[in-house]
Amino acid sequence: MDSVEQASVQQATKLIDKFGRHVDYIRLSVTDRCDFRCVYCMTEDMTFLPRSQILSLEELYRVARVFTELGVRKIRLTGGEPLVRTDVMSLIEKLGALPGLEELLLTTNGAQLEKYAVPLKAAGVNRINISIDSLDAERFKKISRVGKLEKVLAGVDAANAAGFDNIRLNSVIMRGYNEDEVVSLAEYAIQRDIDIAFIEEMPLGEASDHNREDTTCSNAWVREIIEQKYRLVDSAEKTAGPSRYVKVAGKKSRIGFISPVTHNFCEDCNRVRVTVEGRLLLCLGNEHSVDLRAILRDEKSDDVVLKQALIDSMQIKPERHYFYDKDHAQPVRLMNMTGG
Ligand code: SAM
Ligand code: SF4
Repeated sequence: MDSVEQASVQQATKLIDKFGRHVDYIRLSVTDRCDFRCVYCMTEDMTFLPRSQILSLEELYRVARVFTELGVRKIRLTGGEPLVRTDVMSLIEKLGALPGLEELLLTTNGAQLEKYAVPLKAAGVNRINISIDSLDAERFKKISRVGKLEKVLAGVDAANAAGFDNIRLNSVIMRGYNEDEVVSLAEYAIQRDIDIAFIEEMPLGEASDHNREDTTCSNAWVREIIEQKYRLVDSAEKTAGPSRYVKVAGKKSRIGFISPVTHNFCEDCNRVRVTVEGRLLLCLGNEHSVDLRAILRDEKSDDVVLKQALIDSMQIKPERHYFYDKDHAQPVRLMNMTGG
């Protein structure tokens, strides 16, 4: 790169893709491992990545830092289960102090929040999403294959007590597993003044225990079920994410609907993902990616080279995903590799 090119990279402060979308949000996967094996996310016998293939905490931090220098203002830590990564708190503390970062978010299965809620808040995590798909211990175990409901419920309480700006539960509703728990899950969130989002099951990789086309419940259906009990008020509030929120009349909680299967939200997409292997994924539902690990591990590549790769990646960010469309290839990677 000559000095003129270097200077133009130094001056670039924004990531804009070829459809004019401004990317200011990254989802950073800190591990592909997890202490659960949720049926929609993993197979029962998972092989995880060897240590040499995953980014070190320092490499993850470098990626985050360079993204913020290109205008990224929001980072969500995800996985796998972020809280199973050894020494993850040291990374979170550094990210919490990163200049320019306005929001540090975490998505977790909640099983370790009793231990981590207070340190996470102290490290600067603003908002937390906790996944919970059933309030029945046996069912919870069936869906997560190994998880203990009581640990997650205690985790939700610990997060609530720690004083995050916002807590949102995430529930994937699946026919034959938990479709009769829509109202009780909503009620559980409402009683605690926290938000809940219902996520349509996405066809990311093969599910080993069921056929996704049989289990996926549309959010239109989920909404109808909730409306049999609560009055939902459409909100004019526009969030940067894929959730469409409604308010529950007379309550503090909001209900979000994330409908990647039945409603395409790509037009407003402001995000990219980085897998723990250092693969920059430009879209959840496509394979377009850039190998950042190769750049991070090349001694000749400094931050200017890394920045240029991020800027260039905007040219291959796909316009949209096409789930269940026979004319388009479907992703083969499971969600734990994608970074939820
Ligand atoms: N382990 C953390 C957790 O469970 O919250 C973070 C990672 S997990 C992959 C992030 C989110 O993705 C969770 O809310 C989970 O329910 C959701 N998820 C996983 N696989 C999915 C799929 N195939 N379709 C829809 N959501 C999925
Ligand atoms: Fe683990 Fe989260 Fe995937 Fe469940 S959804 S297996 S908790 S990474």
